Amino acid sequence: MNNQSPKPFIIPLFIPNMGCPHRCVFCNQTSITGQEHTRLSVQQVQETTSRFLGFKGYHRGRVEVAFYGGTFLGLPKPYQQSLLDEAQGFVEKGQVDSIRFSTRPDTITSDVLKALTPYTVGVVEVGAQSMDDTVLSLSRRGHTAEDTRNAVKLLKDHGLRIGLQIMPGLPGDTTGSILETGRTVAELKPDFVRIYPTVVVKNTVLEKWYGSSRFKPLSLADAVELTKRLYLLFEARAISVIRMGLQASGSLLEPGAVVAGPFHPAFGHLVHSAIFLDLAARELEMQKTLSKRIILRVRPREIPKVKGLSNHNIKQLIQRFDLKELRVVPDPTVRENTVRVENSLT
Ligand code: SF4
Repeated sequence: MNNQSPKPFIIPLFIPNMGCPHRCVFCNQTSITGQEHTRLSVQQVQETTSRFLGFKGYHRGRVEVAFYGGTFLGLPKPYQQSLLDEAQGFVEKGQVDSIRFSTRPDTITSDVLKALTPYTVGVVEVGAQSMDDTVLSLSRRGHTAEDTRNAVKLLKDHGLRIGLQIMPGLPGDTTGSILETGRTVAELKPDFVRIYPTVVVKNTVLEKWYGSSRFKPLSLADAVELTKRLYLLFEARAISVIRMGLQASGSLLEPGAVVAGPFHPAFGHLVHSAIFLDLAARELEMQKTLSKRIILRVRPREIPKVKGLSNHNIKQLIQRFDLKELRVVPDPTVRENTVRVENSLT
């Protein structure tokens, strides 16, 4: 709910699992990104970037070329530089503002960042996943929370914007470790975070562990509740949460691609709705008198969040407060993230 500058227009280029020293137990980037394990060629960088620039239309925000789905700084140097050279060509021509990529925390060193100086890299997204060393070890991440702390410090020293990704519900996670990860990440003051509750994806170690009952994912309800608490924690510290829940890409939606876990195509909406349910309930509780027929006034674009998916929130509130009717009315005079109660229906 932070006020953000216009979202950048991101041109995504996928390097599925490339540059990774091994496979983390939950990861199958072919399913997650919908891209086959083929080596991204320089020609594809050129073609995809040109194609996306054609879709840009009147977008007024920044344009960024992004290398996602693998460990960018783990790529062999000549290959990494060939991709950067190609992307930088678009920057030089004024068609793209900057380059961004995702990488593991343990690939970030001062020397590696110095080698990026000739390129207009603006944002580095770091897969922290957890700040609990036991959870990291059980997930076979091969790095520690300290690696993430060091990575953030180095990126800040080099003036780069930082995104941190976390995955609540990894092996060994508890409510306590998940919230502690949130607090520790917030203390690192990244520019933004992504929250991806762990789901069991086909063809992963986690799928085997799930099959043998060695791993139990979070339920959807628990994942929404914990993500809500993390979201509010980051929001209170003015850290943008730019994504909650995996993108419902074509391949993840294929039957059997997600074996178990809190995957929902509208996960972020579920979290926002849960926040508004709390807000509305708090407002209703604060009323000195409550009639049986209530109007909730909210900003027009916040109506779906107040109602919840399939009117879930309305039903909950009617039941909880023993109402006969609850109407949600758009009202541009109401402040953002606020619900105004009108007790006047007869
Ligand atoms: S989670 Fe990241 S580092 Fe681990 S295998 Fe997947 S892409 Fe590679």
